Amino acid sequence: MRYPLIIGNWKLNGSKKFIDTFIVGLCRKFHGIEGCKVVIAPPMVYLDQVKQVICNTKLLLGAQNVDINLSGAFTGEVSASMLKDIGARYIIIGHSERRSLHSEDDQVIAKKFLVLKNKDLIPVLCIGETAAEKMAGQTKTICARQIDVILKLHGAEVFQNTVIAYEPIWAIGTGCAATAEQIQTIHTFIRDHIAQKDPKVADQLIIQYGGSVTKNNAAEIFSQPDVDGVLVGSASLILDSFIDIIKLASTKKYKI
Ligand code: PEP
Repeated sequence: MRYPLIIGNWKLNGSKKFIDTFIVGLCRKFHGIEGCKVVIAPPMVYLDQVKQVICNTKLLLGAQNVDINLSGAFTGEVSASMLKDIGARYIIIGHSERRSLHSEDDQVIAKKFLVLKNKDLIPVLCIGETAAEKMAGQTKTICARQIDVILKLHGAEVFQNTVIAYEPIWAIGTGCAATAEQIQTIHTFIRDHIAQKDPKVADQLIIQYGGSVTKNNAAEIFSQPDVDGVLVGSASLILDSFIDIIKLASTKKYKI
């Protein structure tokens, strides 16, 4: 079943002290809020500290990356088994910063997707176009290409119990979010694209939007029928903003 899902992607931010105040405050303010799932994805080194603080709450743990290998001579990497061991559940892969700064291509991301599925973890597959690609009218082609690598290798069934985050690169960290209409158009396209292979899987797929989401634009974004949640960068580090976004998500109604 689809549900509103909010993920806070902390990127390379945070500290032990920040976690002590932010997560404790978030736990307090989140208490009693129903109707959505909230995931915190801190840097790897802080996963366990966050896990300890959220362990008696409904907050969930996420991670920002995973290696394609499970163990061995891969210096600096973290495996799906390790993420599972530490209690992470939602794992972001294919973020545009990893695609551009770490040269991760669609093939590598497809491997990460499968390694997570094999460990019963939930991949959060980020897709989206650059500003130039948008200008050239290629948004749908790019999104389809990023999904098709996985579809062709593993079929539509592999998308069961997974998340796709549509994150136009031009909207990430720019303060210039896509409009609600643009978001709905692309989310419908993504769902239809998967539905061509498996309508049931598509119907249940969680599709998030990411890119300059704030407490001011979240309500309109959530009002779109094919938006199941948001992947939040900067605003996930500001407690009052993040909790406002969560509250808005918790009021989302699905048409049955
Ligand atoms: C992100 O990095 O996934 C993101 C959406 O960042 P921001 O919310 O800061 O645009």
